[in-house]
Amino acid sequence: MGYVCVSCEEEVEINPVEDKIICPSCSHRVLLKERPEQDKTVKAV
Ligand SMILES: [Zn+2]
Repeated sequence: MGYVCVSCEEEVEINPVEDKIICPSCSHRVLLKERPEQDKTVKAV
């Protein structure tokens, strides 16, 4: 599952089993879930 650091906007992959949610780049502890909005193709009528 992908996360994005709110501090440096670095993409971080975190194992949900582990409790450590921290950015390896800047050690920021607030990460947002990445939304794959472009994954699904929606047909416009
Ligand atoms: Zn960061």
